[in-house]
Amino acid sequence: MPADKLHITLAGREHVVEEGTTAGQALADRDAGTTAIAARVNGELRDLAWRLADGDQVEPVTIGSSDGLNILRHSTAHVLAQAVQDLFPQARLGIGPPIENGFYYDFDVPEAFTPEDLKSIEQKMRQIVKDGQRFSRRVVTDHEARAELASEPYKLELIGLKGSVGAAEAPGEVGHGDAGESVEVGGAELTIYDNLDAKTGEERWKDLCRGPHLPTTRNIPAFKLMRTGGAYWRGSEKNPQLQRIYGTAWPSRDAQDEYLRLLEEAEKRDHRKLGAELDLFSFPPEIGSGLPVFHPKGGIVRKALEDYSRQRHEQAGYEFVYTPHITKSELFETSGHLQWYADGMYPPMELEGAKYYPKPMNCPMHILIYASRGRSYRELPVRLFEFGTVYRFEKSGVVHGLTRARGFTQDDSHIFCTPDQLQGELASLLDFVVGLLRDYGLTEFEAELSTRPEKFVGEIAEWEAAEAALKYALDKSGLPYVIAEGEGAFYAPKIDVHVKDAIGRRWQLSTLQVDFQEPGRFGIEYQAADGTRQRPYMIHRALFGSIERFFGILTEHYAGAFPPWLAPVQVVGIPISDAHVEYLQTVATRLREHGIRVEVDTSDDRMQKKIRTAQRQKVPYMLLAGDDDVAAGAVSFRYRSGEQKNGVPVVDAIAEITGAVASRIQV
Ligand SMILES: [Zn+2]
Ligand SMILES: [Zn+2]
Repeated sequence: MPADKLHITLAGREHVVEEGTTAGQALADRDAGTTAIAARVNGELRDLAWRLADGDQVEPVTIGSSDGLNILRHSTAHVLAQAVQDLFPQARLGIGPPIENGFYYDFDVPEAFTPEDLKSIEQKMRQIVKDGQRFSRRVVTDHEARAELASEPYKLELIGLKGSVGAAEAPGEVGHGDAGESVEVGGAELTIYDNLDAKTGEERWKDLCRGPHLPTTRNIPAFKLMRTGGAYWRGSEKNPQLQRIYGTAWPSRDAQDEYLRLLEEAEKRDHRKLGAELDLFSFPPEIGSGLPVFHPKGGIVRKALEDYSRQRHEQAGYEFVYTPHITKSELFETSGHLQWYADGMYPPMELEGAKYYPKPMNCPMHILIYASRGRSYRELPVRLFEFGTVYRFEKSGVVHGLTRARGFTQDDSHIFCTPDQLQGELASLLDFVVGLLRDYGLTEFEAELSTRPEKFVGEIAEWEAAEAALKYALDKSGLPYVIAEGEGAFYAPKIDVHVKDAIGRRWQLSTLQVDFQEPGRFGIEYQAADGTRQRPYMIHRALFGSIERFFGILTEHYAGAFPPWLAPVQVVGIPISDAHVEYLQTVATRLREHGIRVEVDTSDDRMQKKIRTAQRQKVPYMLLAGDDDVAAGAVSFRYRSGEQKNGVPVVDAIAEITGAVASRIQV
């Protein structure tokens, strides 16, 4: 083969190209008008300007793919940083990774950015996008990088970290929290990206970055700056606080508009806002961040959630247990939590010479209940269940309403079974979990099977048996699922069940995990049929995850308009005038006899105002009564939709309401 020809594979097909051909040229040759904005070359994400070598495997990366979106968003973060340094030359650069739906960039600036600042930054960004500056990659030595970035102390610090951060993370992988350092220096070599003027080729700006990037700033179809916030450098309170600017970027204006519409909808549904408006719960600062209290109305919803869960668990053969909130340190030494999980725990208190910890998990206590006496194979599986309250130290930056709290109650179950029972138990568990979630009104599920990670404990044969059993359960369930290869915890593979809510957001809810670690650490056993002592398998299972979190998710799913069975007030009686109060009180009494939560609005407000109040409180049924209704022994329904149904005999009204509550339907 002549030396100036390269044999490459393009999207699975062999091609011959000239030496010096870039990934972008090769893709354009194959497909005039290609929509690729980057390429995967031998599995690595590369710029379109990347020069190919003989034998390369090249795949196009389009802007709408998850890699493409990350590249778009991260490239927009560069434009943001360039605009900020143009307008605020004293601003020093932190990091700027892509995140879900957007990106951020951190800056060290003397003063926080104002909303006006954001406007002018965004304007400057639009100019840079219009200019069509070219993103251009250049490999530099440590020494060169230090010289070029001498005025950027945070970048200098990152150069010093090269190789020690996030090197295993795929380029362009969405950074969670403060994991963005890998965007800058995660690779084997240091690279700087220059922004070059479209006409003169002059350098307009540069950043330490591993890339890849869009070919030019003009390839950014739609973006918007969203908000600012404070963020500690590298996520540690010991470091300086930087100013973070968040933005979003999309492959089209339409996609961006759709996202902004969804955000607006999500804001209306924000459970923290609804929790206050509907008087459900609050977070008194006197108690502390992430520690909610439930008000009577929220208490009713919560009790309805729990009661139904209890009833279903009872029917499914679970036994109910109760355990304390604090424990001596020995328990968490045995379980290993103090070794692996101490950062997530509240600090201990010293009592009578012992250290007591608030518990972050219930598992070890359930194991002690199992171990409290000898167990025979005949009584397995043992299914223990508890609404167990745990305390976890979440950083104040991540605490978020009920969905990420510091104290919460898990609907926690631990199942002890023989190896033979594992497969059947997991299958029926998954069925149970999904069936119960459906009853709470969730309809769309996806599962994820996380398998053995590189670092693990236990025998490979055990892992394989457990993974096969989890996979069997998933296949039998008919749920759509993906396999997250190597994503399991080091002690166990697991299934996570994700749900989609009413506006299409995905929430991770239930977890089923097969544990190889804890039964051995505690040395628990059962006597097998042949008289030998065997170690049981242990399955961790949380269905809601935490009741508080589930409560928050359901509140947002229903936008506070709970189905009748969960609504704190199911019926409000609204008299047309004072003369009809007494009549409605008798209707209310009859409804209460059927267990319905009903109030009669006897305030001085006019009828229209009472209707508006009930609507704001999202009460499922308003029962109106005037002279005609009283004369006919009837009521008039007004539903949340505004629809009205007049002259319904009281008996029929009661039947309609109790029927809807019993069947747990939404109205
Ligand atoms: Zn970059
Ligand atoms: Zn557990």
